[in-house]
Amino acid sequence: MRQERERFFTKAAYDPVDERHHGAIHVPIYQNSLFAFGGYDEFERAMNGLQDHHVYSRGNNPTVQYLERKLADMEGAEAAKCFASGMAAISSAILSVVGQGDHVVATHQAYGPTRQFLSQFLSRFGVETTYVDGSSMANWRAAVRPNTKLLYLESPTTIMFELQELAECAKLAGEIGARTIIDNTWATPCFQNPLALGVDLVVHSISKYIGGHSDCIGGVVLGSKELMDRVADNEYMLLGGIMTPQTAALVSKGLRTLPLRMQRHEESGLKVAEYLGKQDYVARVNHPGLSVHPQHELAKRQMSGSSSLFSFITNEPREKLKAWATRLRYFKIAVSWGGFESLVTVNKLAAGAEEETSSVVRLYVGLEDPRDLINDLEQAWKDAAE
Ligand SMILES: *Cc1c(COP(=O)(O)O)cnc(C)c1O
Repeated sequence: MRQERERFFTKAAYDPVDERHHGAIHVPIYQNSLFAFGGYDEFERAMNGLQDHHVYSRGNNPTVQYLERKLADMEGAEAAKCFASGMAAISSAILSVVGQGDHVVATHQAYGPTRQFLSQFLSRFGVETTYVDGSSMANWRAAVRPNTKLLYLESPTTIMFELQELAECAKLAGEIGARTIIDNTWATPCFQNPLALGVDLVVHSISKYIGGHSDCIGGVVLGSKELMDRVADNEYMLLGGIMTPQTAALVSKGLRTLPLRMQRHEESGLKVAEYLGKQDYVARVNHPGLSVHPQHELAKRQMSGSSSLFSFITNEPREKLKAWATRLRYFKIAVSWGGFESLVTVNKLAAGAEEETSSVVRLYVGLEDPRDLINDLEQAWKDAAE
């Protein structure tokens, strides 16, 4: 496992020299909408294979294509397409496998807007979704129907950090003629490669760790050439939610340090999570990398590491938690995660989950010294208690 992880450093850093870019060590930003041809034969050849040639930047821009190849290599995919956002990638991936009258089974804790897309948007077109507690295979098996065409996974989920058994879900989908899609944003290609476990399509929000600098919004779908050709010709070309060349260049730069950043995030995230696990005000820490996590053994089996977004459950009054969050110096109050800076949010638990009075505090551990972060948490809690 260790050795596999080390190989990512080479994948991130090394490019064979591509003569089309004159040996430029960074991929140039091809800031153009169209590509001109020297002759009509060449033009017609290109028009017959839009994804393999450069014709128009809504289909295939060289800067974006560079990033797609890089991400495909890191995720172990035959092909990738980059999108304007994680949601553009997710909605396109889902649309590529479902049609009118189909049924979807999804993990109940999937990213909120993804659930909204499934239940409020796709329901308008006759696609029905059943949500299950995805941590148990029995729940998936009980929920599938003859018209189930998609098992939608997100492992771990990013508020409660619940896992699904990826290989088992892929096997079940195979048995019933359905596809599997996973949102792999938390683990990144560094720590989890679901395609190798039989999952059909992987999606990432690039806006998080892959971009890594809180400067871009983007997404990617990855999978076999067969499935990705369908995505490219249909959802990509027709909905048009493409990534711009500037974003692709920024993300390519962020990608160089992805393995290095993830190594640091993993170490620091575990230190801060372990510290919180010992505090009186913390009822439970939700972090798959901790041995107290109920699915820690599964986490070790299907991931080679853990990232630094996690949560804890607490019964302290919400006003006090908000006062504590406001006093934090290094943890900024903000949505999203995956950049260099540590973040915090205080949330109500979902209705019906545990006690009404409990809160779930989500922390994102950035690149700062974890000792400073722990001191920050300690000091702010003392201040908030006064
Ligand atoms: C942020 C996020 C998304 C959506 O990505 P955008 O780039 O914001 O559209 C999807 N899934 C997860 C797990 C996320 O954290």
